[in-house]
Amino acid sequence: MTTGAGSLGDRKARAGPGSRIGWRDDRWVVPDDPIIPFIEGDGTGPDIWRAAVRVFDAAVTTVSNGTRRVVWREVLAGEKAFKGTGNWLPDQTLDVIRDCRVAIKGPLTTPVGGGHRSLNVALRQILDLYACIRPVRYFEGVPAPVKQPGKLDVVIFRENIEDVYAGIEYKAESPEAAAVIAFLKDRFGARIRPGSAIGIKPMSKFGSQRLVAKAIEYAIKTKRSSVTLVHKGNIMKFTEGGFRDWGYEIAKARFGDQSITEADAGNVKRETGKVIIKDRIADAMFQQLVLRPDEYSVVAAPNLNGDYLSDACAAQVGGLGLAPGGNVGDGYAVFEATHGTAPKYAGQDKVNPGSVILSGAQMFEEIGWSDVAVAIVRGLERAIGTKRVTYDLARQMPGATEVSTSSFADVIIEHLA
Ligand code: NAP
Repeated sequence: MTTGAGSLGDRKARAGPGSRIGWRDDRWVVPDDPIIPFIEGDGTGPDIWRAAVRVFDAAVTTVSNGTRRVVWREVLAGEKAFKGTGNWLPDQTLDVIRDCRVAIKGPLTTPVGGGHRSLNVALRQILDLYACIRPVRYFEGVPAPVKQPGKLDVVIFRENIEDVYAGIEYKAESPEAAAVIAFLKDRFGARIRPGSAIGIKPMSKFGSQRLVAKAIEYAIKTKRSSVTLVHKGNIMKFTEGGFRDWGYEIAKARFGDQSITEADAGNVKRETGKVIIKDRIADAMFQQLVLRPDEYSVVAAPNLNGDYLSDACAAQVGGLGLAPGGNVGDGYAVFEATHGTAPKYAGQDKVNPGSVILSGAQMFEEIGWSDVAVAIVRGLERAIGTKRVTYDLARQMPGATEVSTSSFADVIIEHLA
């Protein structure tokens, strides 16, 4: 997860075609002029991307004094791809992202009830992006529904490939569902109402452990206090319960000298300097995150629990408008705004670019350009502090002035340094 030495050293990054990010010995190798593919997105995607890319470039230039730059390469997906190529997701897009390893995307329209294949699903499968990482924190001044939103500061690692995302489902009354029902009855005596729809929830030791390991590595690297394994193992003993057991197992086997279980830590929690590994049952965890959010730092969860938790946490600190996300594997990562295309505002230079901007900050942190990430987050924090914000925040912040998407980017840029 760390960056390699920049290839251009102290020299100014030259104008040119850029260089590819590499992956060696489980680390990113990042040149001073990385090529990063981007997908603008549909609906309001172009509005927020235009604003975000200016913030990114300004932040990189400011912190590196012009010695680093990103060479952005547009790749097509969604409506723009369809209009240009007749294909919603051209193979070339996948090829470029695979080649360049790290990419960022705006929201894409997902037709309800069928249509084209989802870019997210395709990328997850092709690049094995097994961790969906969602940092959730409060920005001072943002209206939030709880009394002390600032107490929530968590990074959720959600398994991205298995569990319900495996997509193994058979329609009610289909021959496939009937065959599975008959098999389970004949072989194991399972009683399932005839005509039921069937979904399969596969969860492996391999998949669970690599996700938990990524979460623990992150906690160690960023000096976060704990990793909480969230599961529903009291009911689903072998899948969700397996996730918990395999999580503890990998913590001990691979991070035994840098982590300690909550049970072993006892009352000396704060002095150990080790990451505390604990687990919570999913339903209790939803209460805990509302009532005692400051007791949680990094969360590792199977797919469905992590999905619910991510949005619930984002809502708690003021909504999805400022929630970033990244899908990360080993040597590949794609970052994205977590909200949708908000089509009714398309082309109006109106919506909040915060989510894609913070996704960019998350991307820079992942590739080891933490200084850029810090500058972007600082700029956004201070911009919100000026109360010159986009409509979604302005309508809830007393005394705020509504500004356009592009003007909000200007305010952020003014406050980067
Ligand atoms: P949405 O696009 O997220 O919009 C719902 C509402 O959220 C908007 O009407 C707006 O609320 C608010 N909102 C969204 N983005 C905002 C922004 N940048 N700034 C301020 N407010 C924002 O959800 P949707 O209408 O359900 O979905 C629209 C399309 O997006 C669908 O095709 C869906 O499939 C797709 N989608 C894509 C992704 C993705 O690509 N990752 C994710 C989710 C949805 P107000 O009207 O109250 O101002």
